[in-house]
Amino acid sequence: MTHVALVTGSSRGIGRACAIALAVDGHDVIVNYQRDAAAAASVVDEIMGLGRRAVAIAADVSQPADVARVVRDGSAALGLIDVLVSNAGIAPLTKFEAIPLDEWDTVFATNARPVLQLTQLVLPGMREQGFGRIVTMASQAGVSGGVFIGAHYAAAKGAMIALTRSIAKYTAGTPGITANCVAPGLIDTDLVAGFPPDDVARLTRGIPMQRRGRAQEVAAVVAFLCSPAASYVTGTLIPVDGGLLAG
Ligand code: NAP
Repeated sequence: MTHVALVTGSSRGIGRACAIALAVDGHDVIVNYQRDAAAAASVVDEIMGLGRRAVAIAADVSQPADVARVVRDGSAALGLIDVLVSNAGIAPLTKFEAIPLDEWDTVFATNARPVLQLTQLVLPGMREQGFGRIVTMASQAGVSGGVFIGAHYAAAKGAMIALTRSIAKYTAGTPGITANCVAPGLIDTDLVAGFPPDDVARLTRGIPMQRRGRAQEVAAVVAFLCSPAASYVTGTLIPVDGGLLAG
Protein backbone atom coordinates (compact mmCIF):
# COMPACT_ATOMS: atom_id res chain seq x y z
CA MET A 1 0.00 0.00 0.00
CA THR A 2 1.40 3.39 -0.98
CA HIS A 3 0.89 6.03 1.66
CA VAL A 4 0.26 9.69 0.94
CA ALA A 5 2.03 12.06 3.31
CA LEU A 6 1.40 15.74 3.88
CA VAL A 7 4.40 17.53 5.38
CA THR A 8 3.74 21.17 6.19
CA GLY A 9 6.69 23.54 5.83
CA SER A 10 8.69 21.07 3.75
CA SER A 11 10.48 23.37 1.30
CA ARG A 12 13.41 23.74 3.71
CA GLY A 13 14.96 22.50 6.93
CA ILE A 14 13.46 19.74 9.05
CA GLY A 15 10.30 19.52 6.94
CA ARG A 16 12.32 19.02 3.76
CA ALA A 17 14.33 16.24 5.40
CA CYS A 18 11.08 14.59 6.56
CA ALA A 19 9.57 14.76 3.06
CA ILE A 20 12.67 13.12 1.54
CA ALA A 21 12.90 10.45 4.27
CA LEU A 22 9.23 9.57 3.80
CA ALA A 23 9.70 9.34 0.03
CA VAL A 24 12.70 7.02 0.55
CA ASP A 25 10.33 4.87 2.65
CA GLY A 26 7.87 4.70 -0.25
CA HIS A 27 5.43 7.53 0.47
CA ASP A 28 4.05 9.97 -2.06
CA VAL A 29 4.39 13.45 -0.60
CA ILE A 30 2.43 16.71 -0.57
CA VAL A 31 5.11 19.36 -0.12
CA ASN A 32 3.67 22.44 1.56
CA TYR A 33 5.51 25.75 1.73
CA GLN A 34 4.75 29.40 2.30
CA ARG A 35 7.08 31.54 0.17
CA ASP A 36 9.98 29.60 -1.34
CA ALA A 37 8.49 28.07 -4.50
CA ALA A 38 11.90 27.22 -6.00
CA ALA A 39 12.96 25.31 -2.89
CA ALA A 40 9.64 23.43 -2.84
CA ALA A 41 10.04 22.56 -6.53
CA SER A 42 13.50 21.12 -5.84
CA VAL A 43 12.03 18.90 -3.09
CA VAL A 44 9.38 17.68 -5.55
CA ASP A 45 12.10 16.93 -8.12
CA GLU A 46 14.14 15.00 -5.56
CA ILE A 47 11.11 12.93 -4.52
CA MET A 48 10.21 12.17 -8.13
CA GLY A 49 13.83 11.15 -8.67
CA LEU A 50 13.22 8.56 -5.95
CA GLY A 51 10.36 7.14 -8.02
CA ARG A 52 7.55 8.59 -5.87
CA ARG A 53 4.89 11.15 -6.72
CA ALA A 54 4.94 14.63 -5.22
CA VAL A 55 3.17 17.95 -5.53
CA ALA A 56 4.07 21.36 -4.10
CA ILE A 57 1.29 23.52 -2.68
CA ALA A 58 1.78 27.08 -1.40
CA ALA A 59 -0.35 27.65 1.68
CA ASP A 60 0.05 29.64 4.88
CA VAL A 61 -0.84 27.22 7.67
CA SER A 62 -1.88 30.12 9.92
CA GLN A 63 -4.80 30.74 7.54
CA PRO A 64 -7.66 28.24 7.96
CA ALA A 65 -8.78 28.57 4.33
CA ASP A 66 -5.23 27.78 3.17
CA VAL A 67 -5.08 24.71 5.43
CA ALA A 68 -8.36 23.43 4.00
CA ARG A 69 -7.07 24.05 0.46
CA VAL A 70 -3.78 22.22 0.94
CA VAL A 71 -5.64 19.13 2.17
CA ARG A 72 -8.27 19.33 -0.58
CA ASP A 73 -5.86 19.99 -3.46
CA GLY A 74 -3.19 17.64 -2.11
CA SER A 75 -5.67 14.77 -1.81
CA ALA A 76 -7.07 15.51 -5.27
CA ALA A 77 -3.55 15.25 -6.70
CA LEU A 78 -2.17 12.24 -4.83
CA GLY A 79 -5.03 10.51 -2.95
CA LEU A 80 -6.25 10.30 0.64
CA ILE A 81 -3.71 11.58 3.16
CA ASP A 82 -2.84 8.89 5.69
CA VAL A 83 0.40 10.40 7.01
CA LEU A 84 0.40 13.92 8.46
CA VAL A 85 3.55 15.67 9.62
CA SER A 86 2.56 19.04 11.08
CA ASN A 87 5.95 20.69 10.94
CA ALA A 88 5.61 24.31 9.76
CA GLY A 89 6.43 26.77 12.47
CA ILE A 90 7.87 30.16 13.33
CA ALA A 91 10.09 30.97 16.30
CA PRO A 92 10.36 34.67 17.18
CA LEU A 93 12.98 35.57 19.80
CA THR A 94 10.95 38.43 21.29
CA LYS A 95 11.72 39.00 24.97
CA PHE A 96 8.95 38.18 27.43
CA GLU A 97 7.76 41.67 28.36
CA ALA A 98 7.94 42.83 24.74
CA ILE A 99 5.71 40.10 23.26
CA PRO A 100 2.81 41.86 21.53
CA LEU A 101 -0.51 40.06 21.89
CA ASP A 102 -0.96 39.86 18.13
CA GLU A 103 2.45 38.10 17.86
CA TRP A 104 1.26 35.61 20.51
CA ASP A 105 -1.78 34.92 18.33
CA THR A 106 0.32 34.51 15.16
CA VAL A 107 2.73 32.11 16.88
CA PHE A 108 -0.16 29.95 18.12
CA ALA A 109 -1.96 30.17 14.76
CA THR A 110 1.16 29.02 12.88
CA ASN A 111 2.55 26.37 15.23
CA ALA A 112 -0.36 24.94 17.23
CA ARG A 113 -3.73 25.56 15.58
CA PRO A 114 -2.87 23.73 12.33
CA VAL A 115 -2.42 20.54 14.37
CA LEU A 116 -6.10 20.72 15.33
CA GLN A 117 -7.42 21.74 11.93
CA LEU A 118 -5.23 19.39 9.88
CA THR A 119 -6.06 16.44 12.12
CA GLN A 120 -9.78 17.19 11.89
CA LEU A 121 -9.47 17.23 8.10
CA VAL A 122 -7.40 14.07 7.62
CA LEU A 123 -8.91 11.78 10.27
CA PRO A 124 -11.91 10.64 8.18
CA GLY A 125 -9.57 9.46 5.40
CA MET A 126 -7.32 7.71 7.92
CA ARG A 127 -10.32 5.86 9.33
CA GLU A 128 -11.38 4.91 5.82
CA GLN A 129 -7.87 3.61 5.01
CA GLY A 130 -7.48 1.83 8.36
CA PHE A 131 -4.09 3.49 8.68
CA GLY A 132 -3.03 6.87 9.96
CA ARG A 133 0.13 8.45 11.28
CA ILE A 134 0.08 11.92 12.85
CA VAL A 135 3.41 13.43 13.86
CA THR A 136 3.73 16.95 15.23
CA MET A 137 6.95 18.98 15.36
CA ALA A 138 7.11 20.43 18.85
CA SER A 139 10.34 21.51 20.53
CA GLN A 140 12.43 20.86 23.58
CA ALA A 141 11.29 24.39 24.56
CA GLY A 142 7.72 23.10 24.74
CA VAL A 143 8.80 20.99 27.71
CA SER A 144 11.47 23.16 29.35
CA GLY A 145 10.14 26.66 28.55
CA GLY A 146 11.91 29.44 26.71
CA VAL A 147 13.91 32.50 27.69
CA PHE A 148 16.16 32.99 24.65
CA ILE A 149 13.46 31.53 22.41
CA GLY A 150 10.14 33.33 22.86
CA ALA A 151 7.84 32.32 25.73
CA HIS A 152 4.96 32.36 23.24
CA TYR A 153 6.85 29.86 21.05
CA ALA A 154 7.51 27.61 24.05
CA ALA A 155 3.85 27.87 25.07
CA ALA A 156 2.64 27.03 21.56
CA LYS A 157 4.94 23.99 21.42
CA GLY A 158 3.70 22.93 24.86
CA ALA A 159 0.15 23.21 23.53
CA MET A 160 1.12 21.03 20.57
CA ILE A 161 2.41 18.35 22.94
CA ALA A 162 -0.82 18.29 24.97
CA LEU A 163 -2.93 18.42 21.81
CA THR A 164 -1.03 15.52 20.23
CA ARG A 165 -1.51 13.45 23.39
CA SER A 166 -5.23 14.28 23.28
CA ILE A 167 -5.40 13.17 19.64
CA ALA A 168 -3.58 9.95 20.57
CA LYS A 169 -6.13 9.20 23.29
CA TYR A 170 -9.03 10.15 21.04
CA THR A 171 -7.84 7.86 18.24
CA ALA A 172 -6.47 5.04 20.39
CA GLY A 173 -9.57 2.90 19.83
CA THR A 174 -9.34 3.28 16.05
CA PRO A 175 -7.20 0.51 14.58
CA GLY A 176 -4.12 1.65 12.69
CA ILE A 177 -4.01 5.30 13.80
CA THR A 178 -1.29 6.80 16.00
CA ALA A 179 -0.33 10.34 17.02
CA ASN A 180 3.07 11.31 18.37
CA CYS A 181 5.21 14.34 18.96
CA VAL A 182 8.87 14.98 18.16
CA ALA A 183 10.83 17.55 20.18
CA PRO A 184 13.98 18.75 18.41
CA GLY A 185 16.64 20.60 20.36
CA LEU A 186 18.96 22.85 18.37
CA ILE A 187 19.03 21.73 14.73
CA ASP A 188 21.07 23.35 11.93
CA THR A 189 18.50 24.90 9.62
CA ASP A 190 17.84 28.36 8.15
CA LEU A 191 15.80 29.08 11.30
CA VAL A 192 18.82 28.66 13.57
CA ALA A 193 21.13 30.33 11.02
CA GLY A 194 19.01 33.44 11.59
CA PHE A 195 19.73 33.49 15.35
CA PRO A 196 22.60 35.67 16.70
CA PRO A 197 25.80 33.57 16.31
CA ASP A 198 26.97 34.23 19.90
CA ASP A 199 23.69 32.85 21.25
CA VAL A 200 23.92 29.79 18.97
CA ALA A 201 27.47 29.13 20.23
CA ARG A 202 26.36 29.51 23.87
CA LEU A 203 23.34 27.25 23.38
CA THR A 204 25.51 24.65 21.61
CA ARG A 205 27.91 24.54 24.56
CA GLY A 206 24.90 23.65 26.76
CA ILE A 207 24.04 20.54 24.72
CA PRO A 208 25.33 17.36 26.40
CA MET A 209 26.49 15.98 23.02
CA GLN A 210 28.30 19.29 22.37
CA ARG A 211 26.93 19.73 18.86
CA ARG A 212 23.80 20.82 17.03
CA GLY A 213 21.61 18.25 15.33
CA ARG A 214 21.02 17.67 11.64
CA ALA A 215 17.59 17.86 10.03
CA GLN A 216 18.08 14.26 8.83
CA GLU A 217 18.48 13.11 12.44
CA VAL A 218 15.01 14.49 13.21
CA ALA A 219 13.57 13.08 9.99
CA ALA A 220 14.80 9.57 10.83
CA VAL A 221 12.66 9.59 13.98
CA VAL A 222 9.68 11.00 12.09
CA ALA A 223 10.04 8.30 9.42
CA PHE A 224 10.05 5.62 12.10
CA LEU A 225 6.91 7.04 13.75
CA CYS A 226 5.20 7.09 10.33
CA SER A 227 6.15 3.51 9.53
CA PRO A 228 4.06 0.38 10.09
CA ALA A 229 6.79 -0.68 12.56
CA ALA A 230 5.64 2.03 15.00
CA SER A 231 2.15 0.51 15.27
CA TYR A 232 2.17 0.36 19.11
CA VAL A 233 3.71 3.80 19.70
CA THR A 234 1.15 6.52 20.37
CA GLY A 235 0.81 9.58 22.60
CA THR A 236 4.52 9.86 23.19
CA LEU A 237 7.08 12.62 22.88
CA ILE A 238 10.46 11.77 21.41
CA PRO A 239 13.20 14.36 22.02
CA VAL A 240 15.87 14.61 19.32
CA ASP A 241 18.11 17.00 21.18
CA GLY A 242 21.57 15.59 21.90
CA GLY A 243 20.59 15.00 25.52
CA LEU A 244 19.19 18.47 26.38
CA LEU A 245 16.01 17.19 28.03
CA ALA A 246 18.00 14.59 29.94
CA GLY A 247 19.15 17.51 32.07
P1 NAP B 1 12.93 26.68 8.80
O1 NAP B 1 14.30 26.31 8.38
O2 NAP B 1 12.63 28.11 9.13
O3 NAP B 1 11.90 26.16 7.70
C1 NAP B 1 10.54 26.47 7.91
C2 NAP B 1 9.69 25.80 6.86
O4 NAP B 1 8.33 26.06 7.20
C3 NAP B 1 9.91 26.34 5.47
O5 NAP B 1 9.66 25.31 4.54
C4 NAP B 1 8.84 27.44 5.36
O6 NAP B 1 8.37 27.67 4.04
C5 NAP B 1 7.70 26.80 6.16
N1 NAP B 1 6.80 27.77 6.74
C6 NAP B 1 7.07 28.79 7.59
N2 NAP B 1 5.93 29.43 7.92
C7 NAP B 1 4.95 28.80 7.25
C8 NAP B 1 3.54 28.99 7.16
N3 NAP B 1 2.93 29.98 7.85
N4 NAP B 1 2.82 28.17 6.38
C9 NAP B 1 3.42 27.17 5.68
N5 NAP B 1 4.74 26.93 5.72
C10 NAP B 1 5.48 27.75 6.50
O7 NAP B 1 12.48 25.87 10.12
P2 NAP B 1 13.05 24.50 10.74
O8 NAP B 1 14.19 24.82 11.61
O9 NAP B 1 13.16 23.48 9.68
O10 NAP B 1 11.84 24.16 11.73
C11 NAP B 1 10.78 23.29 11.35
C12 NAP B 1 9.94 23.01 12.59
O11 NAP B 1 10.77 22.45 13.61
C13 NAP B 1 9.27 24.25 13.20
O12 NAP B 1 8.00 23.94 13.69
C14 NAP B 1 10.20 24.58 14.36
O13 NAP B 1 9.54 25.27 15.40
C15 NAP B 1 10.62 23.19 14.79
N6 NAP B 1 11.86 23.18 15.56
C16 NAP B 1 13.02 23.56 14.97
C17 NAP B 1 14.19 23.54 15.74
C18 NAP B 1 15.54 23.93 15.18
O14 NAP B 1 16.51 24.02 15.97
N7 NAP B 1 15.67 24.17 13.88
C19 NAP B 1 14.14 23.16 17.09
C20 NAP B 1 12.92 22.78 17.63
C21 NAP B 1 11.80 22.79 16.86
P3 NAP B 1 9.06 28.78 3.06
O15 NAP B 1 10.43 28.23 2.77
O16 NAP B 1 8.23 28.80 1.84
O17 NAP B 1 9.07 30.06 3.80
